Amino acid sequence: MPDDKGDWLPEEREKILKWFNENTTPKECTFCGTRAWTLGGSAGLLPCLGGRNILLGPTIPVVLVFCSKCAHIEFFSPVLMKLLTDESTTTDASKKVPAETEVASGQ
Ligand SMILES: [Zn+2]
Repeated sequence: MPDDKGDWLPEEREKILKWFNENTTPKECTFCGTRAWTLGGSAGLLPCLGGRNILLGPTIPVVLVFCSKCAHIEFFSPVLMKLLTDESTTTDASKKVPAETEVASGQ
């Protein structure tokens, strides 16, 4: 569970990076073609529309991975990474923009 500012704890960052190393092969960015990916420093939240007020509606926690060259963003589920449980997720949408950690680089 991220800290009260929404930042991933160091052990969570390690677990996320380990998960990426074990479960993915860095792909080229679909927009710019580089393989320079950066892990976002905090959990992201995606609003779920479902016909409700987008600001007060439910959200889905996400791990954000940014293309370091063109800023394209990819989303991964921390629940499926077993980093968060469905019960531990939050609907607080006031998380700050993350510091970043490089997960892969190339080109
Ligand atoms: Zn890119």
